[in-house]
Amino acid sequence: MQSIPEVWARLKNARKVTKVVGVKGIQNGYRTPYGDGWVLAGDAVHYKDPIDGQGIYDALLGTKILAEAIRKWKQESCSWEESMKFYQDELWKATHAMFLQTVGRIKEEAYGEPPPFIINTIIRWTLTDPEYQAGFLRYIHRAINPSERPTPGPKFFLRGLKRDLFGK
Ligand SMILES: Cc1cc2nc3c(=O)[nH]c(=O)nc-3n(C[C@H](O)[C@H](O)[C@H](O)COP(=O)(O)OP(=O)(O)OC[C@H]3O[C@@H](n4cnc5c(N)ncnc54)[C@H](O)[C@@H]3O)c2cc1C
Repeated sequence: MQSIPEVWARLKNARKVTKVVGVKGIQNGYRTPYGDGWVLAGDAVHYKDPIDGQGIYDALLGTKILAEAIRKWKQESCSWEESMKFYQDELWKATHAMFLQTVGRIKEEAYGEPPPFIINTIIRWTLTDPEYQAGFLRYIHRAINPSERPTPGPKFFLRGLKRDLFGK
């Protein structure tokens, strides 16, 4: 922490009050969402690495779809099987594109930490680029199709280099 002065300044008077517990080996996938008289929602049905912070959104989205499925079962002449198949299909449609991106990002992270030279140039140029930042926020807020997630590229590198050289 002391290597990052801004973080250290905030934490220097902090006190650890409980044990720090790590998480590892988080799996990514979907479970069979329903059966005879039972149904799964939230992480129980669709679980993934928290790298993209999508779990709460997915849980709310999924339960909204589930509510609609239950309404169909109760108020329309849909069987339990038909209603729950609707839930399964709609949940998949609503979450799968994002899921593929999250899984892809985990694979990228698995290459390990890049050397400091790359962090201080290419990665810094990308992460401080206003267009990249806006695009990434739209991605994690699900305002764009997840497949349109901005990825590092020459446009961001060149603009970052220009900012370093000319200050704009
Ligand atoms: C490190 C980390 C960071 C995350 N960051 C984000 C983030 O930034 N944004 C985001 O959207 N999501 C994030 N998530 C994911 C998010 O926390 C989950 O997707 C979300 O909480 C799922 O909600 P849920 O109701 O399905 O499950 P949970 O929130 O896990 O709730 C399940 C509850 O059931 C209880 N329970 C379990 N078994 C039993 C039992 N047998 N009897 C009674 N109760 C039981 C549990 O104690 C728990 O309270 C993160 C997850 C982790 C691990």
